[in-house]
Amino acid sequence: MKIAVLPGDGIGPEIVAQAAKVLEVLRSDGLKIELEYATIGGAGYDAAGDPFPPATEKLSKEADAVLLGAVGGYQYDTLPRPMRPEQGLLRIRKGLGLFANLRPAMVYPELVNASTLRADIVSGLDILIVRELTGDVYFGQPRGIRTLENGERQGFDTMHYSESEVRRVAHVGYQIAMKRGRKLCSVDKANVLDTSMFWREIVSEVAKEYPQVETSHMYVDNAAMQLVRAPKQFDVVLTGNLFGDILSDEASMLTGSIGMLPSASLDSNNKGLYEPCHGSAPDIAGKDIANPLATILSVAMMMQYTFNLPDVANRIEGAVHKVLQQGIRTGDIYESGMRRVGCAAMGDAVVAAL
Ligand code: NAD
Repeated sequence: MKIAVLPGDGIGPEIVAQAAKVLEVLRSDGLKIELEYATIGGAGYDAAGDPFPPATEKLSKEADAVLLGAVGGYQYDTLPRPMRPEQGLLRIRKGLGLFANLRPAMVYPELVNASTLRADIVSGLDILIVRELTGDVYFGQPRGIRTLENGERQGFDTMHYSESEVRRVAHVGYQIAMKRGRKLCSVDKANVLDTSMFWREIVSEVAKEYPQVETSHMYVDNAAMQLVRAPKQFDVVLTGNLFGDILSDEASMLTGSIGMLPSASLDSNNKGLYEPCHGSAPDIAGKDIANPLATILSVAMMMQYTFNLPDVANRIEGAVHKVLQQGIRTGDIYESGMRRVGCAAMGDAVVAAL
């Protein structure tokens, strides 16, 4: 199991160090894990003048999976766009062909009060958003700003999805739904957009191959509303890049704790990039107060999706759950009466629970 480890910027190195402790435990228990480190984002720019240096690209392509911390920092905000840390992220996603982004939103019973929604609305919540990641209006050409014949300026983008793009991400969604609650809701805007009408047609075709899964279709405006009205109606939500970008952030806030949310981005062979949903949190970097659990839970997703070791994934998730049951909390999820710890101590607590 060759894992490329890219700590990145801000809190990235601190949180990735805790996930590495977990991987060390798994290695000492017999898994053949090999970790190799490289730079990305601002760290890549500082070390090699490139947010996705060639050595990092090579390592990431050779590895079976990539563990990433986060990228970004105020000191890089004035760099020209191609040198910005976020370009490193876009280039690694594109370069590795990571077309399926998986973002679970789960509410642990111990953290039910962290949500801004009522406990009865979110307790027991366990949904997974499958977002297409390499197509849609984010990548469509032509795009730009042009001047019309009447002299008025106009901004424009192009939305399109090809059949193969929809089909492959739909299969990912259905295969995951088969292993979960066997419900899949495909989200689109088929009442207005031709791209969405086509999306719905293809998803409906793929659905016939998975008769055990209950399929529904929902317009994105309704889905945005249902996610806060009755989020527990969802199991797997399948959607395109633009709608998924927005809905996955909305769903993540149902849990109330950005420091708890892992993510996976997969290619067609289940090779994956695993990272927390949050950013580099420069406001708290270097203070040993960041929550490393999202990164540790990203390792659990790696064991599940790339290495097909659900028992190991369950073991990591169980250890995180146990730590929460013990009342151990980082600042972002702290409630009075709990034991407040720093980033490294949280990593140690998970290792002890493992
Ligand atoms: P952010 O997610 O970094 O931080 C938002 C807030 O959440 C901050 O108050 C931060 O302190 C807090 N927070 C985030 N992660 C936390 C954790 N693990 N534990 C405790 N608190 C945590 O988002 P932002 O402030 O909008 O962006 C900061 C930088 O991160 C920017 O440069 C942005 O471009 C970048 N960014 C990177 C990624 C990524 O690498 N995937 C994603 C989003 C933002």
